[in-house]
Amino acid sequence: MDQRIDTQCVQAGYQPGNGEPRTLPIVQSTTFKYTSSDQMGRLFDLEEEGYFYTRLQNPTNDQVAAKICALEGGSAAMLTSSGQSANFLSLFNICGSGDHIVCSSALYGGTYNLIAVTMKRMGIDCSFVHPDCSTAQLEAAFQPNTKALFAESLANPAMVVLDFERFAKVAHDFGVPLIVDNTFPTPVNCRPFEWGADIVTHSTTKYMDGHGTVVGGAIVDSGNFDWERYKNRFPGLTTPDDSYHGVIYTQRFGKKAYITKATVQLMRDLGMVASPANSFYLNSHLESLALRMQRHCTNAQAVAEFLSRHPKVTWVKYPGLPTDRYFALAQRYMPQGSCGVVSFGLLGGRERISAFTDSMQLASIVTHVADTKTCVLYPAGTTHRQMNDAELLSAGVEPDLIRLSVGIENPQDIISDLKQALDRL
Ligand SMILES: *Cc1c(COP(=O)(O)O)cnc(C)c1O
Repeated sequence: MDQRIDTQCVQAGYQPGNGEPRTLPIVQSTTFKYTSSDQMGRLFDLEEEGYFYTRLQNPTNDQVAAKICALEGGSAAMLTSSGQSANFLSLFNICGSGDHIVCSSALYGGTYNLIAVTMKRMGIDCSFVHPDCSTAQLEAAFQPNTKALFAESLANPAMVVLDFERFAKVAHDFGVPLIVDNTFPTPVNCRPFEWGADIVTHSTTKYMDGHGTVVGGAIVDSGNFDWERYKNRFPGLTTPDDSYHGVIYTQRFGKKAYITKATVQLMRDLGMVASPANSFYLNSHLESLALRMQRHCTNAQAVAEFLSRHPKVTWVKYPGLPTDRYFALAQRYMPQGSCGVVSFGLLGGRERISAFTDSMQLASIVTHVADTKTCVLYPAGTTHRQMNDAELLSAGVEPDLIRLSVGIENPQDIISDLKQALDRL
């Protein structure tokens, strides 16, 4: 029976058998015992399924990945040690030195650095396009060696809503997958696979964990992209892998080919593995994800409306405001709400930001977002500090942008806190 997403948050993933623990057990073991060396050999050859070393797979991690897979409606999923590693592996699984990707410029600062600096050093080139660019501009960014189109569903902190269908169509016209970082809306509010995305990534550190406790990431594959059709473009999936005696992932694993390759090859070699204890926390917190997202959204809507009426606030970005540039796209792709993050600017600009953030009492200043506890951050001075003003603007980050992550406290208390801090300016 198909379950609705709020039920899946509680029930999907771990399914205990008779007499087994009701709550997901933490399999706190690096390794797994066998009675036959031959069987162990078959595991190493991918001829049999089974656990043998936690760097590759661990039952606790896999059960949580299965829950996230169900939430996104995917065919296979894996956890990673962080959102950064999820995004890196999602791309590196299908591209390497000499390849190229097209990427939305409205990105989390860490992802921008990863792609513009570190992956570039690895020989993977990127063309950045503004998410509001014309279709012709988007198409012009593609090259013969382009392997993926990457974007955030709801950009952190620019609050740009991705035009999914347009991006998916262009990606597919060029025979590459659309990879979407769905961290901010979460599958509770937005399901990228329903709009043509092929692969979804998450920083589970944000709303999925949502309590500021564990850093983690996830990759989910829809199973929809036809790698075999573009055999020459994706040889890593469609030609023999010598490190596994010539296995061809698409042939052996079908709709699980992409995740299997990322697990048995990239996780084996790069080791960005989630800790099973962290995955246990993540699973517990996922149980309340749908409830929390609802409250984050109603609170953020009230805060955005309050800020947009305040004379000391010059601009507000929140896709739930009917006047917002992305209101129509948000109504289409995330009709139940976007998330709890509101971006805004103050009269007087940059100089007044510290005075404002430092006089907030309920909201804490932290390098974090998407948490039950309301928090505030000045991206141009922190997470996006490495960017110059031009880069900031192309990432959708005004140099005076304040990112407020609205928590699940009583909305009147959050607004009172903002009000007293604004009154002091
Ligand atoms: C935080 C964030 C990341 C990076 O995730 P970590 O878990 O901090 O490594 C990637 N993408 C988005 C949209 C984020 O907000």
